[in-house]
Amino acid sequence: MKNLTKKYLIILLPVFLFCDTVRPFLISEEQEISIGNNLKNQISADSENYPPFKGDYRVTRFVDSIGAILAQNQKERPNLRFTFTILEDDSSINAFAIPGGHVFVYTGLLKEVENTAELAGVLAHEIGHITRYHGADRLVAGEVTGLVNQILFGDESTIAKAAASLLENLAFLKFSRNNEFEADSSAVVYTSRSGINPLGVRDFFLKLKRKYGDSQKIFEPLSTHPLLSERIENVEKIINRTPGIVSDSASFYSEKYLHIKSLLQ
Ligand SMILES: [Zn+2]
Repeated sequence: MKNLTKKYLIILLPVFLFCDTVRPFLISEEQEISIGNNLKNQISADSENYPPFKGDYRVTRFVDSIGAILAQNQKERPNLRFTFTILEDDSSINAFAIPGGHVFVYTGLLKEVENTAELAGVLAHEIGHITRYHGADRLVAGEVTGLVNQILFGDESTIAKAAASLLENLAFLKFSRNNEFEADSSAVVYTSRSGINPLGVRDFFLKLKRKYGDSQKIFEPLSTHPLLSERIENVEKIINRTPGIVSDSASFYSEKYLHIKSLLQ
């Protein structure tokens, strides 16, 4: 009996660790923002691993503006200041989010998507990982707590080193299947509230499935992904059961995006 209790405690502990009531005692929002800002600074300083976008300013402005609209339409984290940064790598059809409100998207993804709704779907999915604390929860639950403490309480030289190690570890990108379903749900909600067709995210998944297979490892390769077909089904289910959702085909905003895409060539 004793052993059984022990077993259950071990299994249940992570659930309690991540619940909303306990989280603020483990990592405050202020600390999450501080870690996020330090990681973002480190990314900016490391142009070898994170090559900055040097292309047309209109592309940057466009990604920023879509990101800002989506961020305004999330209600869960009003204190976060969201940023959207383009990284230059045409071979990477990827985007990622770090705790504290920072979203990064590669030029490979900008070239892969075909309309604003697809791009917005991906950005909203990344925002969802942040609003639902997916990355933040991993910072307090893994082998990286030592690095997190160094960032929070260290001096300037230690902070940069710890931030670099944390970026190498990438603990905050190892999401679960459930995390992915949750972020997809957020993508539907935030795009729809922004007047953008939420089917964009489904179309992006359909394209990935067609090109790279149902269990693709192109987009967010570190995450434990559900099959794309499951995610597509999940997105469609949410859209179908949510009244008043934007589904007008004009709200894909294809023409506007084609112009932006032409600036990337
Ligand atoms: Zn994800």
